[in-house]
Amino acid sequence: METLEFQAEARQLLQLMVHSIYSNKDIFLRELISNASDALDKLRLATLQDGLEADASDLHIEIAADKEARTLTVRDNGIGMTRDEVVDLIGTIAKSGTAELLRKLKEAKESPELIGQFGVGFYSTFMVADQVTLVTRKAGTEGHGTRWESAGEGTFTIDDAPDAPVGTTVTVHLRPKDEEDALYDYTDEWKIKEIVKKYSDFISFPIKMGDDTLNSMKALWARPRSEVSDEEYHEFYRHISHDWSEPLEIINMRAEGTFEYEALLFLPSRAPHDLFQRDSARGLQLYVKRVFIMDDSRELIPDYLRFVKGVVDAADLSLNISREILQQDRHIQMIRRRLVKKVLSTIKDLLNNNPEKYATFWREFGRAVKEGLLNDHDNQKAILDVATFSSTAGSEPTTLAAYVERMKEGQEEIYFLTGESRSQVENSPHMEAFQAQGYEVLILTDPVDEIWVEAVPDYDGKKLQSIARGSVDLPSEKDTPEPEGDFAPLLGFLKERLEEQIKDVRLSHRLTTSAACLVSDADDITPTLEKMYRAMGQ
Ligand code: ADP
Ligand code: MG
Repeated sequence: METLEFQAEARQLLQLMVHSIYSNKDIFLRELISNASDALDKLRLATLQDGLEADASDLHIEIAADKEARTLTVRDNGIGMTRDEVVDLIGTIAKSGTAELLRKLKEAKESPELIGQFGVGFYSTFMVADQVTLVTRKAGTEGHGTRWESAGEGTFTIDDAPDAPVGTTVTVHLRPKDEEDALYDYTDEWKIKEIVKKYSDFISFPIKMGDDTLNSMKALWARPRSEVSDEEYHEFYRHISHDWSEPLEIINMRAEGTFEYEALLFLPSRAPHDLFQRDSARGLQLYVKRVFIMDDSRELIPDYLRFVKGVVDAADLSLNISREILQQDRHIQMIRRRLVKKVLSTIKDLLNNNPEKYATFWREFGRAVKEGLLNDHDNQKAILDVATFSSTAGSEPTTLAAYVERMKEGQEEIYFLTGESRSQVENSPHMEAFQAQGYEVLILTDPVDEIWVEAVPDYDGKKLQSIARGSVDLPSEKDTPEPEGDFAPLLGFLKERLEEQIKDVRLSHRLTTSAACLVSDADDITPTLEKMYRAMGQ
């Protein structure tokens, strides 16, 4: 037997669990069932795709309670873990962003939804347990299994488990009952049934207790929307997304005919902390005829909609389809196109019919959606239609369509100015004349704005025009060429002195209170973009 220490972050997280910052302890069982279900999916997939020789004919989860011993056991005959995997997966937290989230968790003790975002999973057992034992054996391996045990403090033990069957058994030794919780106990059969029904009904493998099967196993996406409660959808969303908060919007899709598929998608109500990290999890779950095929299938949804969670169940794909084949599959590409259209039309519905939800959505995900303006040409117009932007016209963001409606007589272009913050943009000298003459200017402050404005030529036939660019003239000043007159010597002097830094010095009608401002040529990059490139080391 070997005693090992938990990695520092894991230890911190366990501390939080032991002192139970989270009031709904029932979820520990949901987490164990969710892991068991994942392990069964993995075993079935390995037999289908990797030729693993293992019995996949009776995949199931068993729950057993022992009142005397105060234990609750969850067992699966899934893929199991090797000794190294146990140490790696259970002893450390490998997920990125962990440290940051831990800090947030500590700051916000009353904020349970953070845990959901974190997907604390297995460790949640320590909310109810004073000891947890995990015995496992990896499918397809020779030799003995592994036994892991911990009281949730600083260390855990690892030992051989000679007789362990394939799969994983987790035994939770419950803490002594305290008076407050006396209403029920996690060894009560009715309580276990209630939790399974509530959180895990849709799990696609039987969850058995004795001879009873506790869950209906009905795939949620295959059931008519009218028959599924919001609560069930939310649980399913939690299962696939590890996000505790409720989804903002649920999208059902079904296609019949030559190529059949069903999809159940969710728009989250909050952006994950790693939305802009390259290695963040993205993509949808792919099923073929109710059989789980893969997580994080990026082929099903473009990157700019990477926050969309959900499941696609396609009827006509092969069960052993690989990622490489997926990328080229015509049907997959067709599904992806339809999903994009559906997501964009859903956002449009929110914009038109539910401004509050739309505002939440756009605040959280607008920056990602705008990336689509760069690389999804087919949907450029649709994306512009659902986008909103800050503007000098008021504190509320505006659509481009509303901007165009408000354009002044003689105004032919949509004016914008990019920058780092609203106040920086508002106080820019470029703004002066436009403000003074009552022209509305869009205030674009997301980094991606710098880039998409270059890629989008116009909206509704109206050119998008930066007011920081050399060629821009106010409609009112177009006919009056700038006479240099008395200023010629000054201009010449400035040009000479600043030769190294600038291309030209011109007189301008734009400024009202500032003495001078810098403008770029029409095809120069903007100062903010220049800064961005420099920051990226280019
Ligand atoms: P998550 O499920 O979000 O990955 P968990 O803390 O719930 O996080 O589990 C950590 C990892 O431990 C899982 O990703 C999985 O690899 C492994 N694991 C947990 N339970 C099981 C199980 N019953 N069978 C096989 N592997 C498991
Ligand atoms: Mg888990």
